[in-house]
Amino acid sequence: MAYHCAVSGCSNGSYRLLRWEKERCQQCQLPRGKAGSCTCDPPFKLHPFPTSRKNRELRQQWKVLINRTSAKSRGKLWSPSKDSRVCSDHFVDGAPTAENTFPTLNLGYVDANKKVHRVLFQSQLNNENSRQKKKKVNQVL
Ligand SMILES: [Zn+2]
Ligand SMILES: [Zn+2]
Repeated sequence: MAYHCAVSGCSNGSYRLLRWEKERCQQCQLPRGKAGSCTCDPPFKLHPFPTSRKNRELRQQWKVLINRTSAKSRGKLWSPSKDSRVCSDHFVDGAPTAENTFPTLNLGYVDANKKVHRVLFQSQLNNENSRQKKKKVNQVL
């Protein structure tokens, strides 16, 4: 199966990883791949989108940050397919983590930073709201 990074202008995908696996490692001089014994980290990893069943809000936030539109949807936000991935180049920690859940780096469009700020700010607000709601519930109980 072929996976591609969904971020504009990013050409990382599973094809590139396969090619990387076939090369001999320059660092440890060992062959890579399943049969090889090189244990060096690959140049990037491909992370799947949050599913709408498990985390609809986060999926939406990733879509907003990636900011792709398709001609077919007439300017509406593009939706990831099963094969869509986001590579580690776009995550502060190289992968979505509890602290840095969103793809925020090298997003490949003008004003990406503004969008990142807005989404992060909004999600902080949401977190605070839900925390306050929980507090209220606790007080009532
Ligand atoms: Zn190696
Ligand atoms: Zn990428």
